[in-house]
Amino acid sequence: MNYVIPVPAQPSVEVHGTASRFPVHRIYCVGRNYAAHAREMGNDDRTPPFFFTKPADAVVASGSSVPYAMRTTDLHHEVELVVALGAGGANITAHKANSVIFGYAVGIDLTRRDLQSDARKDGRPWDHSKGFDRSAPIGAIHPVKNTGIIESARIWLKVNGKDRQNANVSEMTWKVPEIIAELSTLWELAAGDLIFTGTPAGVGALAPGDSIEAGIEGLSGLSIRIG
Ligand code: MN
Repeated sequence: MNYVIPVPAQPSVEVHGTASRFPVHRIYCVGRNYAAHAREMGNDDRTPPFFFTKPADAVVASGSSVPYAMRTTDLHHEVELVVALGAGGANITAHKANSVIFGYAVGIDLTRRDLQSDARKDGRPWDHSKGFDRSAPIGAIHPVKNTGIIESARIWLKVNGKDRQNANVSEMTWKVPEIIAELSTLWELAAGDLIFTGTPAGVGALAPGDSIEAGIEGLSGLSIRIG
């Protein structure tokens, strides 16, 4: 096949224990999936979670320096469990959902909170507040065959060594199989999809020069620096 311009690079993520990489197809994200975070954002924690997306090329590897994002003065961190899919389909039942999981990673859903607040006020889309360049730092993916299904694990994030977020993934409103089931009624899921499963409470602002360390029990940590 000939193309009229150079073919864009395939975004991909490191896989723990192998030199082979995970090619990213799409990035789905869950909003308000921890009650304490829904409350800290001024929302009713009984409102069901919902979805938004980021572009596949928003992924950034651990160890990177991420420039402070353009057009914001309120860049926020949101640590999240990321589920990587090794298979897909539409209308996957929660009962079968664990069978499409390839593995898990630690991710940060970087957010331009000021643009998001404006969008919420005006009833506008979140693309520019959530799906911007380099908005999806992610650590190495650990295959589920090594980790087993993750239902309970401590999740945390520190900025310059200080605790900011500290919770357990068992506190999710929609558990991972429910997220996959619900998502697959809206989009046909595919191998290569990443799902950011929502952040616990403790989100906050970042400043240029900040060092961020994030982790989930049993997975490789994620470190980035804001440039
Ligand atoms: Mn998030």
